[in-house]
Amino acid sequence: MDEHYDAARIEAEAQDFWERNASFRVTEDPSRPKFYCLSMFPYPSGRLHMGHVRNYTLGDVVARFQRMQGRNVLQPMGWDAFGLPAENAAIRHDTAPARWTWANIDYMRAQLKRLGFAYAWDREIATCTPSYYRWEQWFFTRLYEKGLAYKKVSAVNWCPNDQTVLANEQVVDGCCWRCDTPVERREIPQWFIRITAYAEELLADLDTLEHWPEQVRTMQRNWIGKSRGIEMSFALAEPLAGIDRIPIYTTRPDTLFGVTYLAIAGEHPLAKALAATRPELAEFIAECRRSSVAEADMATMTKKGIDTGLKARHPLSGREVPVWVANFVLMDYGTGAVMSVPGHDQRDWEFARACGLPIEQVIAPLDPATPCDLEREAFTDKGRLIHSGAFDGLGFEQAFDAIAAALAERGNGEVKLNYRLRDWGVSRQRYWGAPIPMLYLADGAEIPVPAERLPVLLPEDVEMNGVQSPIKADPAWRRTQIDGVTAEHETDTFDTFMESSWYYARFTCPDLGTAMLDPARANYWLPVDQYIGGIEHAILHLLYARFFHKLLRDEGLVACDEPFTRLLCQGMVLKDGAKMSKSKGNTVDPEALIERYGADTVRLFMMFAAPPEQTLEWSDEGVAGASRFLKRLWKAVHSHVENGVGVENAENGVRVHFSSGKMDSDPIFSPIFNASFDDNQRELRRKTHETIAKVSDDYGRRQTFNTAIAAVMELLNEIGKRADRSSAPGLAVEREALEAAVLLLAPVVPHACHALWQALGHDTAVIDAPWPQADASALRRNTIELVLQVNGKLRARIDVPAEAPREDLERLALADPNVQRFIDGKAVRKVIVVPGKLVNVVSG
Ligand SMILES: [Zn+2]
Repeated sequence: MDEHYDAARIEAEAQDFWERNASFRVTEDPSRPKFYCLSMFPYPSGRLHMGHVRNYTLGDVVARFQRMQGRNVLQPMGWDAFGLPAENAAIRHDTAPARWTWANIDYMRAQLKRLGFAYAWDREIATCTPSYYRWEQWFFTRLYEKGLAYKKVSAVNWCPNDQTVLANEQVVDGCCWRCDTPVERREIPQWFIRITAYAEELLADLDTLEHWPEQVRTMQRNWIGKSRGIEMSFALAEPLAGIDRIPIYTTRPDTLFGVTYLAIAGEHPLAKALAATRPELAEFIAECRRSSVAEADMATMTKKGIDTGLKARHPLSGREVPVWVANFVLMDYGTGAVMSVPGHDQRDWEFARACGLPIEQVIAPLDPATPCDLEREAFTDKGRLIHSGAFDGLGFEQAFDAIAAALAERGNGEVKLNYRLRDWGVSRQRYWGAPIPMLYLADGAEIPVPAERLPVLLPEDVEMNGVQSPIKADPAWRRTQIDGVTAEHETDTFDTFMESSWYYARFTCPDLGTAMLDPARANYWLPVDQYIGGIEHAILHLLYARFFHKLLRDEGLVACDEPFTRLLCQGMVLKDGAKMSKSKGNTVDPEALIERYGADTVRLFMMFAAPPEQTLEWSDEGVAGASRFLKRLWKAVHSHVENGVGVENAENGVRVHFSSGKMDSDPIFSPIFNASFDDNQRELRRKTHETIAKVSDDYGRRQTFNTAIAAVMELLNEIGKRADRSSAPGLAVEREALEAAVLLLAPVVPHACHALWQALGHDTAVIDAPWPQADASALRRNTIELVLQVNGKLRARIDVPAEAPREDLERLALADPNVQRFIDGKAVRKVIVVPGKLVNVVSG
């Protein structure tokens, strides 16, 4: 064994070994429990950053740990390869998006390999390959046939910079999630997938995801936004453009008598009809469209509006209220109109204040001490009804029911469950994506591309001309024939969240050329047992993937209801308190670090520096510390191997004591250990086995890898203090401790442990070693402290042999001088013995 730890050589050798032996290739094996471990696949942006390294190291540690538990572990890797950055980079570098993407994939694959991740590389997927997106296209045509995919003209979020539509989930604080440009509203024809048809199931099944972070489940619950309310309509005093009623939906029918105006969206048919003759209204609507946005920002935006001059009649009181066009109402949420109760809704209150509309109180606080000052703000709590005619005095629930009944009696009003979730718009106007497999006939009729004509290939050898999609600009690509008639291909491409919604399933059968999935293989591996990725995917990717999984299930391709059993969302990697980014100039390049210290040091630092879900603060000192620890571990094993075996001859040496001569086929911690250890040896054994128990729990149940590593560091200190090479039992105990340390660290620093395991005399690789089990007999303490009580009061503490039988404890307690003193010659009526803890003498 080399005396010095040479990371570069050790890592190359271990990686070469895994490669030659196809160590991480797996097939379905019904005789073994499976474990599917998956980290969110990267976008091939060019180089790995530290966030990737953290994400993938976490996944790799879990995968390697599970393998050592005896599970059949699948850990694949691939590329989320379509998307806008490729197009923008191609325009910048005057190349084609495909070429740019593939070059990045090659570079990043090599980087991942240098980090030693245990990936099943034979299953690698890039979503931009036709063999992958072909099945996505096929699946879309199936959804179309089932009525789950449809096209409609709708107002969409438009990023003027990226020249494409964004899903609601992709608008963050009114700006594009990718480029931060303020988003505009536009009306264009779009393809949608009916996620709303699954809203209830997506919501209800969140309760089954008990191994997901509560934060993610809450975010999804809020996003789906289920509510119970009443749909009713306000009749227009004068019909306009054939419209005589304005339907609205409210979750607060108890405030119905506080309505002082109705607010409609700029895209509401009434507003549009009026705009034709009123330029100032048309101008206002156009302004709303330009400035508007994400529904999430409606609460904070400056409220603006314009009076339409129309009046609507209150459905119960008959009172007339004005109708306003307001910038805070969106057409695609609900009915595009809201009943405004400024006394009890803060948004309505702000609008009323801005536009000089009346604010009236119809709800009084249940507790008179609760502040309620409508001059300052709306009172939004539920309470007791006032100024509400026959409904005065009712509480929320009673008022809900009574008002629902009164409305129903008038044939106006229906209790409805509502969801905030909107259908998923999947059309993107840019080029680098999977073409949407639809054809249009001359008369405008749409037909899905027949299965035998799939895939609809995206041409890769293109020249980018600004942001204009090359397929939109190419009439030859667009034009085709179907059944003898001319047709045109859809030129929009899928949102890339389509590809990332099912890649986890395709990894189970990536080579399949005849179908999207092989249910037998998919059902063996799915669901994913451990999924790992950033919290920023809490609603976008994780909601779409759950939805897609249910669609796959309903197509008969998978059997389970949910794709990911356990979810870990790792925290960010910070430097000097800020997120690492090129623009801040505070990035640390993983490659330079690997060059300097080796992959194991980088992995060890990442896992040791913080618990996985917390942010990790970068520290050069911490990296250096991780490197020093690896060198210490190496030195400890080296010293043991080189000096230890020489103490006695091979017949009586460590190996023989260890497992009667045959190390590799026998249990690692051989029962040959007996009671012939001295106290020092027994203490080291106890530390070894306590560490095994703790680290197993930390890796498995708690997923606190930092404390697991800390425990092994302590064990190494203990070995340094107690190792005793003067006798065979001493050597055996030291070896046991070192082997435990190597096995317990193998998931984190697999290269070093691969080499150390061999140095310790094993013929098999450490990846194939079983996980060590804590030996209960070693955990037992030699003596324990026994509490002695007389009549329940503490009178003495004594040390007794841990294994002492009950009679001995009773005898020892009664013989104790302090106990004798407090019994004070009285009769002993009862002796209560709690083995391992206390003896209570009842006397008197
Ligand atoms: Zn953008």
